[in-house]
Amino acid sequence: MNRASNDSVGEGINAAAGSADVAAAAKPLASVADPVAKRRPGAFAVAARLLRIAVRGELWPILAGLALMLSGALVGLLQPWPLKFIVDALAGGTKPPPLLTHIASVLPQGAGPHGATLAYISVLCVGLLLISIVSAGINLLSTWVLVASGLRMVFKLRCRMFDHIQRLPVSFHDASTVGDSLYRVTWDTYSVQSLFNQGLVPGITATVTLVGIAFVMVRQDWSIGLVTLLVAIVLVVLIRRLEKPTTELSTAVHEHESSVSTRVQQTLVGIRAVQAFGREAFESDRFAQQASKSLSASLRLTVLQTAAQSGVAILFAFGTAAVVWLAARRVIAGQMSAGDVVLLAGYAAMLFKPLETLSYTANSIQGSVAGARRVFEILDRRSSVADATNARMLDHRPQGEVVLKKVSFGYRPGLPVLREIDLRMPPGSAIALVGPSGAGKTTLASLLVRFYDPLAGCITLDGGDIRGITLESLRHNIAIVPQEPVLFDASIGENILYSRPHASGADLEAAARSAGAWEFIQSLPQGFDTPVGERGVLLSGGQKQRISLARAFLKDAQIIVLDEPTTGLDAQTEADLLVSLRRLMAGRTTIIISHHFSTVRFVDQIIVLERGHVVQRGTHEALIKEPGLYQSLYRLQHGEPVAEAP
Ligand code: ADP
Repeated sequence: MNRASNDSVGEGINAAAGSADVAAAAKPLASVADPVAKRRPGAFAVAARLLRIAVRGELWPILAGLALMLSGALVGLLQPWPLKFIVDALAGGTKPPPLLTHIASVLPQGAGPHGATLAYISVLCVGLLLISIVSAGINLLSTWVLVASGLRMVFKLRCRMFDHIQRLPVSFHDASTVGDSLYRVTWDTYSVQSLFNQGLVPGITATVTLVGIAFVMVRQDWSIGLVTLLVAIVLVVLIRRLEKPTTELSTAVHEHESSVSTRVQQTLVGIRAVQAFGREAFESDRFAQQASKSLSASLRLTVLQTAAQSGVAILFAFGTAAVVWLAARRVIAGQMSAGDVVLLAGYAAMLFKPLETLSYTANSIQGSVAGARRVFEILDRRSSVADATNARMLDHRPQGEVVLKKVSFGYRPGLPVLREIDLRMPPGSAIALVGPSGAGKTTLASLLVRFYDPLAGCITLDGGDIRGITLESLRHNIAIVPQEPVLFDASIGENILYSRPHASGADLEAAARSAGAWEFIQSLPQGFDTPVGERGVLLSGGQKQRISLARAFLKDAQIIVLDEPTTGLDAQTEADLLVSLRRLMAGRTTIIISHHFSTVRFVDQIIVLERGHVVQRGTHEALIKEPGLYQSLYRLQHGEPVAEAP
């Protein structure tokens, strides 16, 4: 949606309601405890805060744009005057201003008794035209300057949001949907532009215009000015009455829009499952249900806004009629000229525009504030795994001794996933985590890279608590090969280089060779430049794993975490991959999670986890002989009978 709209376009968008221009939606962030949401700042405070952030670096363009806008508005205020003089000249009531008669006198005068009057009227007609042209030109320029400023504000806010959101801990992303986060970064950030270009700027311009019109009207006739003021007061009351339902509806529209985008995202991410299970019709229905909620909320908003516009228009017709009637009485009483009626009627009609603008301005500001709140919900969120103030950099390669001391963890209160885990990994050793699904293996590995912090106990690296090391340097020294390789929609080479973007071509090739990926990459016509498709869909499972492994080789970290690296691969590919894995593990501290005994049998120590407890530990040879979970799992995998539980 292009929001580079000027005032009137913005109004059009508002009227179309469903376009959700009023950045809104106060859908609270899911489940993560949110201290910010508890004390909701007022609309004014939110708007002021948003502007404070946004105007940084934009002060001069804004001041220039506002000066232009105001001068355009002042020039526009001259508009009814030429018409007044024309009517006065035709009615022959009052004396024309000397400057205008002087200009008219230097023009060629037409023949006949009214030649001079016609020349005078011609000057006024040209004046009428010039006022419009100059005012339109200034408005165009100022809109351009101010909209450009507004869009730059969106750009800066988006970059800031994106940078912030991707640094938020994994727990935040677990608890929020991608669709919602996407909406906040891409659309809610437009709240700054709508606040500025559809709220603040038209608000200031309309106020100045209003004051100007009121000044002229009161000077012409205070009682007529008073009637106009009364109409304005009724209008303000009307606007305030409509404020709450409008905000509620525009919030609902954004909430539903955000859910629509979440629905699309979730269906497309799971497109293979959708198609494989033939659930397209179900998904379409579900989408239609969500979209129809958005549709009906948008319709309700449109009806409300259109009704408000009609109310405003009727109110102004009433005001204009009253002004004309009062002015006509003055003319009959000889207190005013006929031109003054035109002048006052012109100003009364001109009042319509700024007052109408102000009514939308209130809506726009409300909508922007709702959007801004959603932006601040993200920006105010501090990472729970951020660097400690005295965190130190790991400026040398660690030896790689990793120790877990009574580590406990759970994702949700009252649901422990890991309980008092004690574990020591000597430098360069390999340990395997084995156990049934859901035992807590991946969780344990996640604690090492500080995707989460333990709730109790601590993890040390070379004797120091990992919470005392900067996140960047800690993660720099750990390479993860996840169960499901994470590939980006780029070339094979770019995907491998993701772990070390400035690595040389020779290092890239060496990493690919070590990971056993070199042969298949070479066999592709484009080699390293071959695109992998979104999430690597153009490659086989084994090829993706090898690229993921090559990434870990290239990173050359001292600590390696391998999360079920051979899952889903056939026996031959697994055997080949194991050779590469062992190469990667050599000399590095390695944690390997696997269900495959062929993968774990050569490690130094096997840790058997069950429901978050370490139930057994030892080498493969020892554990295989020991009655217990490991032996049962082993027998199960090898088709041997498992002893019945007593
Ligand atoms: P494993 O790797 O042994 O299969 P996990 O560590 O993945 O087990 O999961 C352990 C438990 O924690 C499971 O009950 C799982 O449902 C839960 N769990 C895992 N990840 C999350 C998460 N991000 N949020 C909430 N619960 C989670």
